[in-house]
Amino acid sequence: MTQKFDAVVVGGGPAGAQAAADLASQGIKTLMLDRGAKVKPCGGAVPPKLMIDFDVPDEWLVAKVNKARMISPKSRHVDIPINGGYVGMVDRDAFDEALRQRATDAGATRVTGTFARIERQPDGSAVVVYRPKGGEGAEERVAAGFIIGADGARSSVAKSEVPGGGDIPYVIAYHEIVRSPKEGENGFEATRCDVYYDGGLSPDFYGWVFPHGDTTSIGMGTEKRDFSVKDATSRLREVAGLQEAETIRREGAPIPLKPLKKWDNGRDVVLAGDAAGVVAPASGEGIYYAMLGGRFAAEAVAKAIVTQDARALATARKRFMRLHGNVFRALGMLQRYWYTNDNRRERFVKICRDVDVQELTFDAYMNKELVKARPLAHIRIFFKNIAHLLGIVPA
Ligand SMILES: Cc1cc2nc3c(=O)[nH]c(=O)nc-3n(C[C@H](O)[C@H](O)[C@H](O)COP(=O)(O)OP(=O)(O)OC[C@H]3O[C@@H](n4cnc5c(N)ncnc54)[C@H](O)[C@@H]3O)c2cc1C
Repeated sequence: MTQKFDAVVVGGGPAGAQAAADLASQGIKTLMLDRGAKVKPCGGAVPPKLMIDFDVPDEWLVAKVNKARMISPKSRHVDIPINGGYVGMVDRDAFDEALRQRATDAGATRVTGTFARIERQPDGSAVVVYRPKGGEGAEERVAAGFIIGADGARSSVAKSEVPGGGDIPYVIAYHEIVRSPKEGENGFEATRCDVYYDGGLSPDFYGWVFPHGDTTSIGMGTEKRDFSVKDATSRLREVAGLQEAETIRREGAPIPLKPLKKWDNGRDVVLAGDAAGVVAPASGEGIYYAMLGGRFAAEAVAKAIVTQDARALATARKRFMRLHGNVFRALGMLQRYWYTNDNRRERFVKICRDVDVQELTFDAYMNKELVKARPLAHIRIFFKNIAHLLGIVPA
């Protein structure tokens, strides 16, 4: 007899672990399957809203950053203080494991293995087939009432179950983790993150230096397959004065660029996080959105279990896009316009000198909503943006 679960969550990253915790805490019989292969390559920057919404304790952060430095192609920089807030930094090995532990504490069954495929029983119900870790390729099967595909970018579940799931465009992001220099050495500050807008370092995205306490993540992303991410990161290390820092790990992974039009198969599968293509354009921020997507997918599954109506699965995407669709569209436009050549990047960094832009950007980052309380500031930014777009303001 195949063991049966009300819900099987494929993937135990932020999306899957959050979904499994939310399902299990409602008494839903849940299995969380993760291949447990390696640490997810990630800059690890998270907003304070993640800490509040998902009840994440401060101890899970390895650093708090209170200043962001934006650097232009001509090496001009703008320091943006994060007044009254911070950007949190997590190390993904410990952070993801803590989330998975929380899911098992809530009652989810955890299995380490690699998802292989979904098979159908004669009555159409799903069986998840996976290869357990250390099982020398042998396959195991569990029957699943519903499945949440949270297996990250290039998701196998999305590819097999949801139209377009195998074709989500993506950026390749690559970073090197180095031993952090001493405070002040080559200008390094443990509470400042640096963002480089420079076509030589990234032709269509940006480069970053994110301090994580003892270690620092230095990396960049690009959609261009013929651009060497390793050479660019080496140049970035030089520019940032980190070429001599001890290298601990080198790793890269895709970041999806566009949310899918549909996250469910209308039957028993719903996607969450990178698997659904949900990473904010322009910033590449995905952890908060993955956890929220996991939560909405879990709520959609819980509703489908109660109502026995698979249409409930579509509520995950609907709720998410209602909350964040506008921000994703605005960031998409920002990326398409400002990240295309060095002249525009120079202007973009200049715009960031504007106090209104700084405050609204960080409010939006920290609180995950476009701030409506300051309509005059929006109007001022609108006109300043137009002036820059028309080239009235010199770069
Ligand atoms: C270099 C880089 C830097 C980034 N920096 C940031 C940042 O600073 N801040 C931020 O918010 N976001 C950042 N992101 C994006 C962020 O990492 C992702 O958006 C986020 O991890 C998505 O979470 P997820 O749970 O959807 O997917 P993932 O974190 O990818 O988790 C997927 C899980 O599924 C498991 N899995 C995959 N395939 C299978 C399978 N076949 N069988 C079983 N298990 C499987 C994996 O082991 C993994 O645990 C960065 C991404 C990259 C690549």
